[in-house]
Amino acid sequence: KELPGDAQSDSTPREVLHACYTKVLPSAEVENPELVVWSDSVADLLDLDPKEFERPDFPVKFSGTSPLAGADPYAQCYGGHQFGTWAGQLGDGRVITLGEILNSKLERWELQLKGSGKTPYSRFADGLAVLRSSIREFLCSEAMHFLGIPTTRSLCLVTTGKLVTRDMFYDGNPKEEPGAIVCRVAQSFLRFGSFQIHASRGEEDLGIVRALADYAIRHHFPHIENISKSESLSFSTGDDDHSVVDLTSNKYAAWIVEIAERTASLVARWQGVGFTHGVLNTDNMSILGLTIDYGPFGFLDAFDPSYTPNTTDLPGRRYCFANQPDICLWNITQFASSLMAAHLISDKEANYAMERYGTKFMDEYQAIMSQKLGLQKYNKQLVNKLLNNLAVDKVDYTNFFRSLSNIKADPGIPEDRLLVPLKAVLLDIGKERKEAWASWVQLYIKELVAGGISDEERKVSMDSVNPKYVLRNYLCQSAIDAAELGDFGEVRRLLKVMERPYDEQPGMEKYARLPPAWAYRPGVCMLSCSS
Ligand code: AMP
Ligand code: MG
Ligand code: MG
Repeated sequence: KELPGDAQSDSTPREVLHACYTKVLPSAEVENPELVVWSDSVADLLDLDPKEFERPDFPVKFSGTSPLAGADPYAQCYGGHQFGTWAGQLGDGRVITLGEILNSKLERWELQLKGSGKTPYSRFADGLAVLRSSIREFLCSEAMHFLGIPTTRSLCLVTTGKLVTRDMFYDGNPKEEPGAIVCRVAQSFLRFGSFQIHASRGEEDLGIVRALADYAIRHHFPHIENISKSESLSFSTGDDDHSVVDLTSNKYAAWIVEIAERTASLVARWQGVGFTHGVLNTDNMSILGLTIDYGPFGFLDAFDPSYTPNTTDLPGRRYCFANQPDICLWNITQFASSLMAAHLISDKEANYAMERYGTKFMDEYQAIMSQKLGLQKYNKQLVNKLLNNLAVDKVDYTNFFRSLSNIKADPGIPEDRLLVPLKAVLLDIGKERKEAWASWVQLYIKELVAGGISDEERKVSMDSVNPKYVLRNYLCQSAIDAAELGDFGEVRRLLKVMERPYDEQPGMEKYARLPPAWAYRPGVCMLSCSS
């Protein structure tokens, strides 16, 4: 705890030693805040009457200008590896936790304001957020939730009525943009970096790593303290040395294994929907396996394994789409190192967690890809050929999978009719490539026939895992352009569409379209780290 006496809201940038957080009050300048968009579904989680959104003082409260009853605001201290390099203390530089709500189901939800002013962790930056990035965070966290992917949530988004200066990465000229604040909600915002920072500070702070781990386990992994004592697990290392890792004797080992598995399952889902996070630094890795920190993220349009939406990630592409599974393993390794440094787990237990990450990822990824194809069994050759074809012809990832359920399990289909069901998604494809696709479709139909599920039944199940609507960057940008001119209608409409990504939604088809030419202008599909 860092409690600076009377100076309860001292946001001077500093190294905060021996503490997990600092009490600090929201301090962003605000003038006539306006409610841009809100989530009824998150209000429901918090037992908040949706009528609250209509109250004239709602935007004032959620801009941090007037305190919420019972709130005890603080900013978290954390560190992290940024782009593979240890960056030391980072922390909530523009986020302030207001407090936690215990709902009627006895779930604990933490509420944060993002963009609410400086904290001791702001370093050189202003503690603020702009409307553009806040709309992206708000919409994407809700879109991810409705896609069925674990994520932090967003309750509401308000404008501050003040302008914020931002350097535009593509022309280097500063631009004034409207300021905004998102209220984010999650069961916990603890990250790998929340533990790493204390482990990095040496012997004296190792007790903090343990205390924080105990806290996290007690509140968020209560089942781990009660694992049956008789259960024991074995694993083998590559050289056939059969060692036993007993997850019932060390709760920290059981804990990191669970975190590794949750992370693996999260990444498998990202790969399934074509989501690229963009900044997978260890400070952006949730211990609950949630997608956290929506900055320069992007959904794949044309399939490209090397896609990164983040200009800060060029030319290395460390965080590109295809690298996400390996990068998250690297991040788990760093997290495991800090638990080892704090003597909470052994190197054997750390290795075991990493091994379980790999197994879980492959299991989940194969299951997801099989469901996307409407098959009960994973067929590696079929998937690899498909991904290769998609990349060669730059086919739209989302629309391709959505169309795939139109293919019938009919082995007698004439060769020249094979590609008809995919006509709308296989655009500008030359004769030679058509042959490659036809041969893939033939292989696919063979698998479908072997699977023996009726076309109708398979279509229903495939359409329930292959979204029709994903939050493409250009859709966000259209909503942002309108909002910057004071029209919040498009942000609200986009939220409604993204709340039902697997439904056809007649009349909304334009939200499933490919990016228009203007989407390729700088700043729409390529974004920088911090805004
Ligand atoms: P990110 O790359 O978004 O994960 O941010 C890395 C670090 O920079 C975190 O400690 C953030 O709180 C901090 N940060 C990002 N933007 C700002 C800002 N405008 N003001 C203060 N801190 C910021
Ligand atoms: Mg972050
Ligand atoms: Mg960020």
